[in-house]
Amino acid sequence: MIIVKTVKELQQILSAEKAGGKKIGFVPTMGALHQGHMSLIETAKKNTDFVVASVFVNPTQFNDANDFEKYPLKTEEDAILLEQHHCDLLFLPSVSEMYPNGKELKKKYNLGRIEQLLEGSFRAGHFQGVCQVVNLLLDYVQPDILFMGQKDYQQIKVILKMLAEKKIDVQLFMVPILRATDGLAFSSRNARLSEDAKMKATILHKCLLETKENLQKYSQTELEKQAKSNILANGFTSIDYYSICNQDDLEAWDGKQKAVALTAAWIDGVRLIDNMELN
Ligand code: AMP
Repeated sequence: MIIVKTVKELQQILSAEKAGGKKIGFVPTMGALHQGHMSLIETAKKNTDFVVASVFVNPTQFNDANDFEKYPLKTEEDAILLEQHHCDLLFLPSVSEMYPNGKELKKKYNLGRIEQLLEGSFRAGHFQGVCQVVNLLLDYVQPDILFMGQKDYQQIKVILKMLAEKKIDVQLFMVPILRATDGLAFSSRNARLSEDAKMKATILHKCLLETKENLQKYSQTELEKQAKSNILANGFTSIDYYSICNQDDLEAWDGKQKAVALTAAWIDGVRLIDNMELN
């Protein structure tokens, strides 16, 4: 696996690969890599000829400076894991390499209501920062296919809006959530949970399954209420949201469109997110 830290080196290598007719796959990450990330790499390997991963903890998408400071940095382990999964190139830029013209966002992305909902209402400015970094990375890499995880469901919807607004010609491949056998979605944040909290955290997946099973049986309000009370009864200290929404725009489910349940909740001082498409 080739490791590069500058945009210049990245583009030199990629233009040679592209000239040779290779289809480029791209997996952006913030590092502290785990099996969930590796399923993105594996999917990218199957669907493209040359896989680029980036590891960059993007300061502009953190609304909480403390969360940014605490974000785990494991560059050496990340590189080993990527190499084991046959990633072709790892792009490891510094903040000044990523943002040569400064981190300040000059012109806001026009994302509409979706950036105010769910995650947006708890993390002001988060999705503007995500769009800023993904937009720049796409400029640098110019991939054929961008691979992102369903784990960050709202992020996928936001990026689709950004791609349309900026008329960026790239295919977005949504990779399903990879879970441990007990149902807990793999996440870099799980490392901060005690063994007991990790076990209790499986309630999120159980509730999502229950919501899916009972979608036609109970009202949306009843399903959300049941899930919230189950989550709180199983060791979570608070719930930011547990909402059944339209898959398309993430507004409250209208009962007709395809639905998705999304949740964010706190356990052991750690904020976990999860979701499931319901039909
Ligand atoms: P992050 O490093 O947390 O920004 O995540 C990088 C990418 O990996 C994002 O597209 C995530 O949605 C994806 N991802 C994280 N966890 C999982 C998981 N358990 N299953 C599938 N994709 C995931």
